[in-house]
Amino acid sequence: MLDNELRELYQDIILDHQQDPRNFGPMENPTHHAEGFNPLCGDRIQLSLQMDGDEIQHVKFSGSGCAISTASASMMTEALTGKTRAEAEALSQGFRDLLTGQSQNAEDAEDSDPTGLGKLRVLAGVQQFPVRVKCATLAWHTLEAALQKESTTPTRTE
Ligand code: ZN
Repeated sequence: MLDNELRELYQDIILDHQQDPRNFGPMENPTHHAEGFNPLCGDRIQLSLQMDGDEIQHVKFSGSGCAISTASASMMTEALTGKTRAEAEALSQGFRDLLTGQSQNAEDAEDSDPTGLGKLRVLAGVQQFPVRVKCATLAWHTLEAALQKESTTPTRTE
């Protein structure tokens, strides 16, 4: 459903994040950390979070990868800042649904945004390229791995 103008806008956003990734670099004293690797493309990412209780206060990433993986990670860090763990997990689910075509969100992108993905929806175009879907979801898989590792809080049984 993308006309050429919209497609160009989307490419501009992806290019912008690839050339000038947000929240890029190492983090001192992260509370959560994980590394991700996409062997299909060679993308590598290290993701660091600083959480205060349930809230994600800071997110940073480093590593090297293709334009899609870098832009996706950059946009993800912006989207996650200030979110709770539950909100982050919902975003992650919504994003993966979008890229695997299990969401109508891409078609409805103009006005409605039921899952709150915002400009992350620009990456919906990669669903036409299955190999690229792995690039776009790498940062999110890494996020889930990081959230599962409680590096400072002792493990509790519920
Ligand atoms: Zn890639």
